[in-house]
Amino acid sequence: MRFCFEPRPQPSVAVADDESLYPVDRIFCIGRNYAAHAAEMGNTVDRTAPFFFTKSPCHLAKQGDPLPYPPGTSDYHHEVELVVALGKPLFRAEPSSVADALFGYAVGLDMTRRDLQAQAKDKRRPWDAGKDVENSAIIGPLTRAKDWHALQDSSIRLDVNGVTRQHAPLTEMVWTVEELVAFLSSLYHLKPGDLIMTGTPAGVGPVGAGDALRASIDGLPTLEVRIGDAE
Ligand code: MN
Repeated sequence: MRFCFEPRPQPSVAVADDESLYPVDRIFCIGRNYAAHAAEMGNTVDRTAPFFFTKSPCHLAKQGDPLPYPPGTSDYHHEVELVVALGKPLFRAEPSSVADALFGYAVGLDMTRRDLQAQAKDKRRPWDAGKDVENSAIIGPLTRAKDWHALQDSSIRLDVNGVTRQHAPLTEMVWTVEELVAFLSSLYHLKPGDLIMTGTPAGVGPVGAGDALRASIDGLPTLEVRIGDAE
């Protein structure tokens, strides 16, 4: 069997200190997982269950990729997030069994056309135009779970042009990594290749062409990117 056109390359994320790449199948993104960010968006956290949306794996980007300012928006926002990668299959799991199934962690940016997301919220329409943006899942190298145990002590941070915009301890997350993965496993047969962006702290805001973004989490490789001109 041959394809009728050349398929895209397999989407992937780098692995720190390793030549291999982590192939990506799905990207789940958690909403409203930091109370202060929910408040700045005019929302409250729903503590009965997390909620999520997805991004297309082909919209992954990494440090060094061209990141043109996307079409259709005049309010393109940064959201710095802890990213979790699955390393084993998981279905209907309890939070206590999640840690053993994690491949690793990275810092990521859930870039968002905030104006289109706001329109979608107003009209009760899906968020795809706001969230599933080309090059909008920018993810740094994955650190293997066995090599990073700092989640309880680490802070997450985003600087734009050297000025800190977002900075919070990871302990501000409303739902823990284990709770988020267990929740998703109640809806999906999770497996290696699944990434979860775990939500952003307060301080989201717009970026423009030429802005330099530096996203970091203590103990994980830093992600540094620059927004390009509009196409
Ligand atoms: Mn987000």
